Amino acid sequence: MRGLILASALLLAAPALAATETIGSLDATPIIDRLDTADLPAGQTQRFWFRAGASPVGQPWLVPVVVVKGAAAGPRLLLTAGIHGDELNGIAVLHRLAATVDPARLAGTLVLVPGLNPPGLMQSARQFTPDWGRSAPNLNREMPGKEGGSAVADFAGRLWNRLLRPNADAAVDLHTQSRGTAYMMYVFASSPRTRRMAELVAPDIIKMDKGDKGTVENTLADDGVPAITLELGRPEMFDDVMIARGESGLLNLMREMKMLPGKVTPPPASLFVANDIVPARASKPGWARLLLPLGAAVKKDQPLAEIRDAFGRLVETVISPADGRINMIATDPRTDQGGSVARIVWWSADPACANGC
Ligand SMILES: [Zn+2]
Repeated sequence: MRGLILASALLLAAPALAATETIGSLDATPIIDRLDTADLPAGQTQRFWFRAGASPVGQPWLVPVVVVKGAAAGPRLLLTAGIHGDELNGIAVLHRLAATVDPARLAGTLVLVPGLNPPGLMQSARQFTPDWGRSAPNLNREMPGKEGGSAVADFAGRLWNRLLRPNADAAVDLHTQSRGTAYMMYVFASSPRTRRMAELVAPDIIKMDKGDKGTVENTLADDGVPAITLELGRPEMFDDVMIARGESGLLNLMREMKMLPGKVTPPPASLFVANDIVPARASKPGWARLLLPLGAAVKKDQPLAEIRDAFGRLVETVISPADGRINMIATDPRTDQGGSVARIVWWSADPACANGC
């Protein structure tokens, strides 16, 4: 009898561990400590504040979450944005998807997190705690985190254990380039499967890339969840063209995943796939003027930028280090000695580089 009671208690306890935990509400939006989309009603869009930790002054860090749970069963696609607080276009993409994807037409579940890093977003900073700590940690190097660890490790651990990992069958993490620089529409992928996801999103450039330890993309991929990082242009703005392209690409990926009806658009013929990247650096400090636009095809040794001193005298012409495409430019002309004025992506035929050099 005792054993039976214990067994029933375990049976009752087990699902509760994984279930959504609601701890309160703010202006009628539930505040949750854990999300399991399995226990939400089908055919509805729901909004939550996810509690991901507390600030030094005791305010909770609340991360916005929108779950569009389709009327029909299907995969769970996790879309995250704003892990770097100066990279904003992805937030607008997720806002648009939250408003336009109709749960009645959806098969599967869209989990949208439009703003992963509230302290960074409040200060328009790439870091998690830009001015408070000694180390200015990058939240996108901290996954899977550690609950009970340092502030950033705990924040990452709560995100990972209670929100991101349990609700993802595939994922796209949306970024832009950082302050003072610009990307085209650009995707990082690390395997043939994620390259296919990247192609369907229809960027200008795909970079096959082994990635950095602790990113959302690579930590999910290491755990068996196909994931890509989608870079949408410039920081600190809502760029309508990039936002529309991001939304359209993600809807195409959802059609491929059979989450939405309709025909899948094939990848554009202009798509450039690279597996290596090399910076073009100024050897002297000064004012840089670029000679070519973002996206331009370049040849090795082709002039890329002129560096001028404080009096406007030409001190250096920076040349391209490789044949390839310009996928990143410095938009801020102030250039330090050794600073990059551009980066060139190219395809290496080395078989060891197939998924990134
Ligand atoms: Zn970023």
